[in-house]
Amino acid sequence: MQKYIFSFFLFVFSFTLSAQDLKRVQKTLDTLCHETFFGRGYLQQGDKKASQYLAQRFKEVGVKPFQETYFQPFEMAINTFPETPTLQIGKTKLMIGKDFIINALSSSGFGSGKIYQLDERIFTENKNQSSNEFLGQFLNTNLRDKVLVFDGDLESKFSEMPRSFFKKMAEAKAHIKLKTKLTASVATQCYPDFYPPIFEVLRTKFPKKVQKIIFSVRSEFISNYGSQNVIGYLDGTRHSDSVLVITAHYDHLGGQGKTVYFAGANDNASGVSMLLEFAEYYKKNPLKYKVVFLLFGAEEAGLIGSKFYTENPIFPLSNIKFLVNLDLVGTGDEGATVVNASIHQKEFKILTKINENQQLLPKIQMRGRAANSDHYFFSQQGVPAFFIYTLGGIQAYHDIYDQSGTLPLTKYTELFQLIRQFLEQL
Ligand SMILES: [Zn+2]
Repeated sequence: MQKYIFSFFLFVFSFTLSAQDLKRVQKTLDTLCHETFFGRGYLQQGDKKASQYLAQRFKEVGVKPFQETYFQPFEMAINTFPETPTLQIGKTKLMIGKDFIINALSSSGFGSGKIYQLDERIFTENKNQSSNEFLGQFLNTNLRDKVLVFDGDLESKFSEMPRSFFKKMAEAKAHIKLKTKLTASVATQCYPDFYPPIFEVLRTKFPKKVQKIIFSVRSEFISNYGSQNVIGYLDGTRHSDSVLVITAHYDHLGGQGKTVYFAGANDNASGVSMLLEFAEYYKKNPLKYKVVFLLFGAEEAGLIGSKFYTENPIFPLSNIKFLVNLDLVGTGDEGATVVNASIHQKEFKILTKINENQQLLPKIQMRGRAANSDHYFFSQQGVPAFFIYTLGGIQAYHDIYDQSGTLPLTKYTELFQLIRQFLEQL
């Protein structure tokens, strides 16, 4: 009975992040989102600097490296835009990041040209080239001194078009895609030099009745960029080959030009900061299993760091008892989603039971397999894994507004508490 009361006591007053811990979380977020790390991407060595900071944090906490180093280097290809791109529409100079961005695949280009607006009736008319007069008109237009402007929503219809359409597109001096929201990305490929550079412009910033556009962008394609994962572990209290793994990607999109960068607070400074809090916690309160911390690079470029890890694991992947991947955990007023929940129903039950008992998140949504973050290649290798992300809160995503100062962290402590207890019950 005594024992029962004692454990009940523990259950109700289970550990949560203190005000002091949350201060440290905010500091981690602010540091990772700082200009020094330039969006933790491929300009100004942002990813490298961030990885060094994280290795230092590991060291301070007492997280051990597997060999002598926390780093696992790998090479990748990446398209970058080291000079500040410019875009002037009529007399209006647009602002990079805010009003426009460069498409990740864009090649270099500069100059000026008259606007040619793509007629959307091309896509609604009969697809048969001979009877589509709008397509016929387009194919007969000389685009060599023109900037082709089109609605970004039309792009989904391009795949139905004949080759001649793409050949004509390639003739233009530059492309301008009009978007309702600017969503940046990074690419491991680049369009060939003869293909026009691609600007993505907010629809509301594109003035009407304008004739001329002046533009410049320089892309630098790096075929062998050196990036790295950051890896460490904490011993468990029992001797066992089984390990629990917590993962998060520390990279983001870097920047475009010399001053504009994507801070990536929710994506994924939030997950990295939580992983570091788990390290702090398990250092003081060791689990029975060893806990391995995997901070991946180059997630945004196509899960490159985590794929590399699964192809070059430091210990057998089959030793992983369970893996939890944290990516986009800075909100939560609408709960969270668990990818792979339908595959690992037993574990999902453990998770939802803790949540029901303690009312931590308003809801936990079940999702199946998805190739949307770093858990994916582990899942493909048969490693049991959850990818947990929070819902609601902010609209910012892959844009300059995903900043540490405005990240609400609505259910951050609750999620921490939920995952902590989940790992303890495995
Ligand atoms: Zn992410």
